[in-house]
Amino acid sequence: MFTDSHCHLDFQCFKPDLSTLLNDCHKVGVDSFLVPSTTQASWANVIELSNRYPQIRIALGLHPYFLKDGLGEYRDELELALAHPAVVAVGEIGLDKWQGMPDYGLQQRIYYEQLCLAKGLGLPIILHARKSEDDLLKVIRQLNFQHGGIVHAFNGSLQQAKQFIDLGFVLGIGGTVTYPRAQKAQRVLAALSDADFVLETDSPDMPLYGYQGQRNTPEKVLLVAESVAKIRGQSLTQLAQNTRANLQRVLPNWHEV
Ligand SMILES: [Zn+2]
Repeated sequence: MFTDSHCHLDFQCFKPDLSTLLNDCHKVGVDSFLVPSTTQASWANVIELSNRYPQIRIALGLHPYFLKDGLGEYRDELELALAHPAVVAVGEIGLDKWQGMPDYGLQQRIYYEQLCLAKGLGLPIILHARKSEDDLLKVIRQLNFQHGGIVHAFNGSLQQAKQFIDLGFVLGIGGTVTYPRAQKAQRVLAALSDADFVLETDSPDMPLYGYQGQRNTPEKVLLVAESVAKIRGQSLTQLAQNTRANLQRVLPNWHEV
């Protein structure tokens, strides 16, 4: 059985058919899901999803992509919401250096505050990194943050991968490795040990190779697994066991479904 360790099932595009989708996932062996939140307004929806579907675990936090100037006080509300039993991490949080992203100073402030909160509560984090791996690592070290978590959709160098792993993180491996041109990502994946990664889709975004332009869904984590198995010369069974064990190790609040 596989877990999709990163899927935004609270997004509007899943509303009409989520129950059917989760049933279809179960039929193909994808039996659990980690849904990270994005905005303050999304926390209630994500919690609601976990109440309705016991196979859904959640992370609560503010995603850098969706930050707005004038963000008010959020910490008390976040801290309160993080006490929900389905919560396994603070997330998704991080830094995004892509063009057109919210002000980087604002991103850094909110990332720092949320990392402090996670540290205070003893919770792991779900990290969003885009061209920002070194900045993220710096703050983790500066705060001596020791609860680890998942670097979602990791796309950095092997050297950066090793630094995150040494700090107690695993890397989220998704659709990127299915693209023939993604040789750097495939080389990094091939060099990792079995304990270093988990699988994800980032649904509805990051379509797999051959599915560009379509809504991505958690069922596709199986196709990610097939690519990973091929690149690493492993069986799907081994991969399912290792990635499940890794998820439970880095997210201690993750209980079996
Ligand atoms: Zn995400």
